[in-house]
Amino acid sequence: SKVLLTGGSGFIAAHVLDILLEHGHTVITTVRSQEKADKIKDAHPKTPGSQLSFRIVPDIAVEGAFDEAVKIPGLDAVIHTASPFHFNVTDTKKDLLDPAIIGTTGVLKAIKKNAPSVKHVVITSSFAAIIDGKKGLRPGYKYSEKDWNPITEEEAPLNPGNGYRASKTFAEKAAWDFVEKEKPNFTLSTMNPPLVLGPIVHYLNGLDALNTSNQRVRDLLQGKWKEGIPETGAYLFIDVRDIALAHVKAIELPEAAGKRFFVTNGFFSNREIADIVAKNFPEYEKNLPGKEVKGGAYPEGGLYGFDDSKTMEILGIKYRGLEESIVDTVKSLKAVGA
Ligand code: NDP
Repeated sequence: SKVLLTGGSGFIAAHVLDILLEHGHTVITTVRSQEKADKIKDAHPKTPGSQLSFRIVPDIAVEGAFDEAVKIPGLDAVIHTASPFHFNVTDTKKDLLDPAIIGTTGVLKAIKKNAPSVKHVVITSSFAAIIDGKKGLRPGYKYSEKDWNPITEEEAPLNPGNGYRASKTFAEKAAWDFVEKEKPNFTLSTMNPPLVLGPIVHYLNGLDALNTSNQRVRDLLQGKWKEGIPETGAYLFIDVRDIALAHVKAIELPEAAGKRFFVTNGFFSNREIADIVAKNFPEYEKNLPGKEVKGGAYPEGGLYGFDDSKTMEILGIKYRGLEESIVDTVKSLKAVGA
């Protein structure tokens, strides 16, 4: 198929891009600058320009940002991953909500208007659009694709975490509303991963520009957990290569249409990450917390569960375990100087 991938320079998108190419798809990816396009192109010297090309979209928060980018003859599918994931927020609306929501509705409107050949759209949402933060750790409850984060517009600006979770929730809702009201020619699927761990692509993300979800691993390697391991916070994870494959399968499998996918490999704790690094990378020993250092364990009172049976049934991916994920993350961070 011919696929438009938005935000091709992102942590997850870089893996989606590689899997799309491996599966023989033709990829057109949007990036914010020619410099980023050149880096991706240089990293794929064997891929012909006819299979990998670029569109520059500097800011997805601008109305109509995708109107020209989607004008691609014979385009079959769109995978929209671009959305801000960081907590350096001065203005919740400008920094998080607008790019997430306008980016999502903008790409859908552009497809409806200018890319009538598109049959399937996949949007990267998040477990953040599922979990109800106000309910705390919620022992005994099982989250699934049926759940929606009930966060409100008033709660969004209260702190950066709320801002991010609201941005994902409102953007995903807007996408499903669009499909319901506009009845476009394409079907929609959303990906709802929890924390995504796994190797970074070295040519895009140096240590300074490290994506948010891997920052805890960098912090550990740099000695920031030596005196105390931080609370895990998010307790579910998926490897980046597995969530990337899930995006690609969602455009390949007709039964993925019209569904949300809760793609998770289950639980992890910061304590487990520290133990995996200690076991596999003795060269970091002087920076790592010793066995006596406290923190980062699972909560004593228990924790929510999850039901991902529908996702497993349709996508059928065998997920990588935490150890493989962390070992490969650390190798990739070492390669850029961690
Ligand atoms: P990255 O920060 O690596 O990727 C985000 C991408 O979005 C980058 O390509 C970035 O471009 C682009 N982007 C952000 N804001 C804009 C904007 N205003 N205009 C144009 N492009 C923009 O993060 P991830 O790969 O982790 O995130 C990808 C998606 O996955 C997001 O939708 C995120 O919410 C979602 N997600 C991530 C999880 C995780 O743990 N990593 C968990 C659940 C969901 P640039 O790099 O040039 O700024």
